[in-house]
Amino acid sequence: MTEETIFSKIIRQEIPTPLLYQDELVTAFRDIAPRVSTHILIVPNKHIPTINDVSESDELTMGRMISVAKTLAKEEGIDEKGYRLIINCNEDGGQEVFHIHMHLLGGQRLGPMLSV
Ligand code: AMP
Repeated sequence: MTEETIFSKIIRQEIPTPLLYQDELVTAFRDIAPRVSTHILIVPNKHIPTINDVSESDELTMGRMISVAKTLAKEEGIDEKGYRLIINCNEDGGQEVFHIHMHLLGGQRLGPMLSV
C-alpha cells in the first residue's frame, strides 16, 4: 500500500477544500484544475491507490461512487445533456494521484473519448 495522498487530507478536511458530498464511504469535491466547466472528483474515503487494488470488500464503495456521480450530475444540471466518468489507472492510464478517483466531466460537448 502506497503512502496516503493529498486526497486523504481533503477527505479528513485537514485541507479545507469545499466538499460537494460526503458520506461514510465516499467524498466528492471539485478538481483543482478543471479541464471542462464541470469537473468533479469522487473518491473513496478509504485509501485505495489504484483500481488494481480494489477488492471484493470495496464493491459497495465502488458502486456508491457511481451513484454519487449520478446525483451530482443532476445537481449540476448536466444529467440530461450528458457527461463522462473516467478512472485512470497507473502510468499508461495517466494516473497522477494514487488514491482512486472518478472524474465527473461535463457541462459542455466533450471531445473524442481518447487522444493517444
Ligand atoms: P489523475 O490524472 O486521474 O490522477 O487526476 C488527478 C486529478 O487530481 C487532476 O485532475 C488534478 O487536477 C486533481 N487534483 C490534484 N490535487 C488536487 C487538489 N488538491 N484538489 C482537487 N483536485 C486536485
